Amino acid sequence: MQRLYISLFLIGIFVYTGCDPKQQPDASAGDKLRVVTTVGMITDVVKNVGGERVAVTGLMGPGVDPHLYKASAGDVQRLTSAQLIFYNGLHLESKMGDILAKMSGNTKTVAVTDAVDRSLLLTPPEFEGQYDPHLWFDVTLWIKAVEKIRDTLSEFDPDNTRMYWTNAERYLAKLAELHEYVKAQAERVPSEQRVLVTAHDAFNYFGKAYGFEVHGLQGISTATEAGIADVQELAAFIAERRIPAIFVESSVSSRSLEAVRAAVNAKGFDVKIGGELFSDAMGDDGTPEGTYIGMVRHNIDTIVTALIGEASTRSMVEH
Ligand SMILES: [Zn+2]
Repeated sequence: MQRLYISLFLIGIFVYTGCDPKQQPDASAGDKLRVVTTVGMITDVVKNVGGERVAVTGLMGPGVDPHLYKASAGDVQRLTSAQLIFYNGLHLESKMGDILAKMSGNTKTVAVTDAVDRSLLLTPPEFEGQYDPHLWFDVTLWIKAVEKIRDTLSEFDPDNTRMYWTNAERYLAKLAELHEYVKAQAERVPSEQRVLVTAHDAFNYFGKAYGFEVHGLQGISTATEAGIADVQELAAFIAERRIPAIFVESSVSSRSLEAVRAAVNAKGFDVKIGGELFSDAMGDDGTPEGTYIGMVRHNIDTIVTALIGEASTRSMVEH
C-alpha cells in the first residue's frame, strides 16, 4: 500500500512538472553548471557572471511576489537537480525558508546578501527586528551580491575562474555607471520634492542611497494587508505635503494604492499614479526592464518624470 502511495506521488510530480512552463535545469544544460535561483534580479546576475558556462533556472518570473511565493512540486525537483542554488535571503523568500534549509544539506545553497556587512543593512522597527531584504535598490550594495556570486562560482568551478572574473568585471563596470546614473537623475528632483510613495516598503535602501523620503502603504513584507487606517494616514500625508504622484508596483496588486488615491481626492487634492515600478520582480524577458539594469533605470526615470513633471523634464534637458 505504501509503495502505491509513493508511486502515485511520483506520478503526481511527473504530471505536475509536465505541464509546468518553466524550463527543467537538466533538460538543456549539457555539461553546463546547473544553477537555480529565486528572484529575477539574482537570475540576471548569474547569467551575466556565469555566461556560457552556466544553465540558470529562475523560479520567480515577472510579476511574482517573492514574499508570498511557495515552491511548487516542480520547483522542488528543479532545486533537487541543481548543483548550486542562489537566493536573496533576509527572509525575502519567507515561504521558501524550509525548503532552502533542507536543500543546503546536499547542495551548495548561497544567500547572496550574506556578503553584505550587517552594519550597512536597514532594520526597520516595524519588521520585528529583522533586516530589510530589498537591498538591490542601492546599486552599491547589489555590487556586493554580484561579487558573492562571482566568488561562489569561482570556488565551485575553479577551472573557469578567469572567465567568471572577466565577466564580473565587465558587469560591475556597468553597475558603477548605473549607480552614477541613478544619482544624477535623482539630483534633478529638488530635495524637498524627493518623496516616494509606493505600494509596499521596497525602497528604503533606494531612499537612503539616493536621498528620497520613502513611504510604503504595506510594510516590508506584502504578507500583511494594509488597513483602512493605513490608507487614511497615507492619504492625509500626501494631501498635506501636496505630493504630485504615487507609484504602483508590478508584483503587488494596485487595488490598495488606488484606494489611497481616492482618499486623497476626497480631501480635495489630486494625486496621480506616476507609473509602475519594478520592486521585487523584473519586467518581461526580452524587454529592457527584464534585466536588473533596465529595471533600475526604468524606476528612476519613471520616478523623476512623475515628480518633476514632463514639462520641466524637457526644459532641463534643453538647458
Ligand atoms: Zn518586497
